[in-house]
Amino acid sequence: MSAIVFTIANQKGGVGKTTTAINLSATLAKRGIRTLLIDLDPQANVTSGLGFKQEPGKSMYGPLHEEENIREIIIPTSQKNLSLIPSEVDLAAIEVELGQKQDYLLQVRRCIAPLKASGEFEVILIDCPPSLGMISMNGLMCADYLLIALQCEYLAMEGLGQILRVLERLQKTNIEDAPRLGGIIMTLFDTRTSLAHQVLSEVRTHFSDRTFRTVIPRSVRLSEAPSFGKSIFEYAPFSPGSIAYKNLGYEMIQRFGIRKPQSAGHQKKPVTDPDL
Ligand code: ATP
Ligand code: MG
Repeated sequence: MSAIVFTIANQKGGVGKTTTAINLSATLAKRGIRTLLIDLDPQANVTSGLGFKQEPGKSMYGPLHEEENIREIIIPTSQKNLSLIPSEVDLAAIEVELGQKQDYLLQVRRCIAPLKASGEFEVILIDCPPSLGMISMNGLMCADYLLIALQCEYLAMEGLGQILRVLERLQKTNIEDAPRLGGIIMTLFDTRTSLAHQVLSEVRTHFSDRTFRTVIPRSVRLSEAPSFGKSIFEYAPFSPGSIAYKNLGYEMIQRFGIRKPQSAGHQKKPVTDPDL
């Protein structure tokens, strides 16, 4: 069976895309789902967040440049079932090169096609840079589903409108290949602010069936984990952030029929973060 490809994007910076990419892929892998995480951001935050150093030549640049086999840049991580295609700063150069190619929006799709078809991974998750440039658009166009990470903050709705308009345009012009909206993941939710509650309820009102039930709380533990090169499950397994990402993984599995979960009995509600 071919893998389902999810791309996490939002043109706005610092909204929790990378944190979600790392911890969502980690929780899927912990459930035994063979997962490949692709760092498509030249900032390489997924790469460093999982404890790897940036290495020249170790990124999607090679395969995109058609000079390297994609399998040669896949590395195993410390976690079972989780593999990584890392990134490094030189990947930024591909932004310009992509624009000069034919089918310039479908180059990442071309590169990952053999991995998708082979069945060696069940899920491929892609982390995008904070832009709607050529790299991100390629990230979008290789996905089955777009996941939008949305910070529960001022101007969230405007940002959401922008990316949804881009998605709509892609769907109109590339009927066959464009992704569908997989869902909106509300991140950095601060229970203490009324603005966060307002934004959450507004998004839920407009996109009720497209907003994940799980909300990711603002939690110090989530921001600390990457500096130790660990997912939240290794760093603070009982923290609210850990519980939230576990629940998000469960919701993903159910929503997309990735694999039938064993039991729903161990879902817990996120609790208030004691270390706020
Ligand atoms: P960029 O657009 O630069 O790629 P991003 O959207 O990938 O950013 P992250 O890197 O995941 O966002 O998060 C931005 C910052 O906020 C990081 O320092 C991260 O550790 C922190 N952060 C993310 N999610 C949370 C959270 N739920 N609670 C607390 N801190 C968080
Ligand atoms: Mg990021």
